[in-house]
Amino acid sequence: MTVEAFAPAKINLTLHVTDQRSDGYHLLDSLVTFVDVGDAVTVEKAEKSTLTVTGPMAAGVPTDSRNLVLRAAEMLGVPAKITLNKHLPAAAGIGGGSSDAAAALRALTTLYNLALPSVSDLLSLGADVPVCVPATLARMTGIGEQVAPVVNEPVWPMILINPRVSVPTGPVFQALPSKNNPPMPEDFPDWKDWDTAAAWLTTQRNDLEAPAIGAQPSIGQVLTELHDSKGCALARMSGSGATCFGIYFDDDIRDRALKKLRGDFPNWWIMPTRPLGHPMA
Ligand code: ATP
Repeated sequence: MTVEAFAPAKINLTLHVTDQRSDGYHLLDSLVTFVDVGDAVTVEKAEKSTLTVTGPMAAGVPTDSRNLVLRAAEMLGVPAKITLNKHLPAAAGIGGGSSDAAAALRALTTLYNLALPSVSDLLSLGADVPVCVPATLARMTGIGEQVAPVVNEPVWPMILINPRVSVPTGPVFQALPSKNNPPMPEDFPDWKDWDTAAAWLTTQRNDLEAPAIGAQPSIGQVLTELHDSKGCALARMSGSGATCFGIYFDDDIRDRALKKLRGDFPNWWIMPTRPLGHPMA
């Protein structure tokens, strides 16, 4: 039997860095969503674990125990022949490795009829792994261990752009001018009303945007291009970059922006997408 699980890209609609613990971990307050662009993990029972990485973004992705997919299998203690079909750029702020690990856990627990690991075990794979397991709109707080689902997710058309530069997460956090930034307000808008929801999001932030632009100025150019594209309601960076997203309210308008951006910047990774709008099974 083969089990396949989708590993959607993780998008931080907001990312507020609110504090730093004495052990160095940053406390976050982030609204996280998952979209219909992603990797695919396929698992099959085997004598020992193996990993094959395929797909357009396979180059450079580790196939040994550095890969979070193999570490997920190791954590469950079950051997499997695993194939990872890589579509997401790595080290791109869209949680490729974390989402792959979460998909591997979903697939392997189905294949072997097991329970999912505890939140602290998920966290030991990566701070974004707990939120990547349900993979639906959620408010993530603490260092990633607190995940509160948010209902009525807007499934608005979006564009993802990565200018094909990778940004190491650590130095971006280190370059933050302040580790004590305000959290999100407790009262969220009515997500069913896309105008109100997007207007609310514009009042929030990704605190890592400025230090990431400092490290990779092309991120600033991506944000300007998205912001200036017709019909864009919000342009923001996800995670520690370099991938940025634009939100639109209409497919045709988004598609026109997509065509123009792809024409103007043929070397950038530019993808149309939208939130999945439901948790992963
Ligand atoms: P985040 O949004 O959580 O900051 P990211 O997009 O910055 O994540 P990843 O795509 O997870 O980062 O890649 C970071 C590094 O992790 C890569 O450079 C790679 O060496 C390693 N890695 C481990 N497992 C994977 C995987 N399944 N896919 C891609 N990279 C992986």
